Amino acid sequence: MRLSHALCAAALGAVLVPATGAIAQTPAPIPDHQQMGTARSAGFYVMRVGRFKVVALLDGLQTMPFDKQLVRTTPAHVRDRMADYFLPTTVPLSTNAFLIKGEGRRILVDTGAGGFIDGKVGLLQQRLAAAGYKPEDITDIILTHFHFDHAGGLVKNGAIAFPNAMLQVSRIEAEHWFSPAARAAAAANQQPTFQAAPKMIGPYRAAGKLQMRDDGYAVAPGVTMLLRPGHTPGSVVVKLDSDGQTMLFMGDLLHSEEVQFAETGVAFAFDENKNNAVTSRRRTFAEAADKGSWLAFAHVSFPGIGHIRSDGQGYRWMPTQYGVDAIE
Ligand SMILES: [Zn+2]
Repeated sequence: MRLSHALCAAALGAVLVPATGAIAQTPAPIPDHQQMGTARSAGFYVMRVGRFKVVALLDGLQTMPFDKQLVRTTPAHVRDRMADYFLPTTVPLSTNAFLIKGEGRRILVDTGAGGFIDGKVGLLQQRLAAAGYKPEDITDIILTHFHFDHAGGLVKNGAIAFPNAMLQVSRIEAEHWFSPAARAAAAANQQPTFQAAPKMIGPYRAAGKLQMRDDGYAVAPGVTMLLRPGHTPGSVVVKLDSDGQTMLFMGDLLHSEEVQFAETGVAFAFDENKNNAVTSRRRTFAEAADKGSWLAFAHVSFPGIGHIRSDGQGYRWMPTQYGVDAIE
């Protein structure tokens, strides 16, 4: 009886103090990664959109010095904006992927960083498992673009990590990252993605699982790829439409929620074409605000889901409230 109580309490993480006053059992040390930010929650968030289920998956946190990475503004202005949010200029940046489940499909939008970035990222497979999915369950993967915090999780130890998935990508994006001419002309900060592209995408191409799609292609009924170039030449937004509800999976159309919702003209150092990146952001934001669509961002604080509303100059971000769809 006492033993079973002890085991039960230990399983719940309680410290046991028997009648003698001595601690009966020394708690196991907490692994370092569990003390840090990425392990503070199970790292997934589920909601409904029409007849679909959407699962936000936290791949982890990147360290982002926004005073250095935001352009078409000044470091001092970025510092002031961040201070408004009680934040320093260098912040942990959520890296989110999303699972869309419905119509007999399980579609992953982006795959996290896999092993391509050091740090507290690359946890997507753990998040999927925590949410109750196996890698074999995934039928399709849509990449918003080829940067390795989105495509790195495609492979594990150099091999396909999702054995039953078709990889659905923008034709323009694929042609860009496999083009020697584009590589020769690209900025230094884009070169690592050119190097990584064959490792991330190559195994799918070799297996006949790479599908190159054009603007407006429907991966499944209600799930459409829309070309929104700028951050990369073939960046796409994924539009989910079901029963009158819409969610737009935005990829990297925005990086700083503190600055770029209000100031849509501020660009990011990794935007390949900054004019086009600003144009795509403004176009998509205007459509989303007009229709009241849900937005799901790769780099807005997890789960990265919410709405925007125009305030005349820019936009206000209204994150989803926890369990918003659970009230009948
Ligand atoms: Zn990114």
